[in-house]
Amino acid sequence: MYDYLIVGAGLFGATFARQAMDAGKRVLVVDRRDHVAGNIYTQKLAGIDVHRYGAHIFHTNDGEVWRYINRFADFNRFTNTPVANYRGQLYSLPFNMFTFNKMWGVVTPEQAAEIIQRQRREITGTPKNLEEQAISLVGRDIFEKLIKGYTEKQWGRDCRELPAFIIKRLPVRLTFDNNYFDALYQGIPIGGYTRMVENMLRGAEVRLDTEYLRDKSALDALAGKVVYTGPIDAYFGYRLGALEYRSVRFETEILDIPNYQGNAVVNYTDRETPFTRVIEHKWFEFGRDEQGNELPQTVVSREYSSEWSVGDEPYYPVNDEKNGALYWQYRALADGESKVVFGGRLGTYRYCDMDQTVAAALALSRRELI
Ligand code: UDP
Repeated sequence: MYDYLIVGAGLFGATFARQAMDAGKRVLVVDRRDHVAGNIYTQKLAGIDVHRYGAHIFHTNDGEVWRYINRFADFNRFTNTPVANYRGQLYSLPFNMFTFNKMWGVVTPEQAAEIIQRQRREITGTPKNLEEQAISLVGRDIFEKLIKGYTEKQWGRDCRELPAFIIKRLPVRLTFDNNYFDALYQGIPIGGYTRMVENMLRGAEVRLDTEYLRDKSALDALAGKVVYTGPIDAYFGYRLGALEYRSVRFETEILDIPNYQGNAVVNYTDRETPFTRVIEHKWFEFGRDEQGNELPQTVVSREYSSEWSVGDEPYYPVNDEKNGALYWQYRALADGESKVVFGGRLGTYRYCDMDQTVAAALALSRRELI
């Protein structure tokens, strides 16, 4: 008999499992995939840690989370500085003085601020959607070239139908600082996320290729309590209807050249290019293996966004009003499940960064493990 059955060996499940084990509890972790680490899973190809479910860059302002995660991996000094490719023109991201110089030829912060001020005047009142929010942050030129196409490809929806909060992830700076994240701490675990999660799960019994919802009653009988990190709507058999998710597909190739695009992340912000971004994984680790040798090959992944349907891998919750309302109905059902706690990106239907996921799992462990 286990104290906790943890459904999902991703970051939330692994953090909770670690905390439970450290509190002397017995845990069983199950995952339907054939590997641990959920969507932060990395796999070595050509000596490079490939982020198989999309680029993950750990960043946080939370010192407690940073110290916690550093127990399981050493982090390198990677800083995300993505480049936007708009019809062959390259722009620096996030929106900073390099971007404004390329867009308008301006040189000083004052000149940039003046153009943004002028362009944002078209939005009066509180921005009601992503388009209005974007224009009020950086003006129409940048919205048209660097935001609209990328966002509509990523979400499959018009920018006027998307919530404003999504774009608030991106900083706007009148300095030459192209660090994508406003975070005190940032990096990639040396040796990959999979190894980090394996370290977190050390001592746990883990069963892979195990579909919890198919074997629910047998698995439930093994533990006093369940921590479920799968999709909340799937748990309830989609009985109130399916929540919407975006899915992502990757075309990954090993190339016999040392350097394909000179950067880990290049976003294609026009509408015509069918993929949203190209990830060149070796640059997350400065193009070297753990011994410090330069790698002769490279691995690139083209990322395509698509609407999710039952059977696909759910990636991003679509946090608009309609789905928010449906989520709260599922939430009410979830609150009635006394033996089960719902957690993680899919269990709580939230667009979470990794640090928020760790923080939420730590908070749950504080409530649970007394
Ligand atoms: N975004 C954008 N242009 C870019 C990068 C991001 O407009 O070149 C906006 C877009 O609305 C997107 C959001 O910022 O949905 C978050 O994008 P990001 O690539 O940071 O999301 P991730 O998938 O990395 O969490």
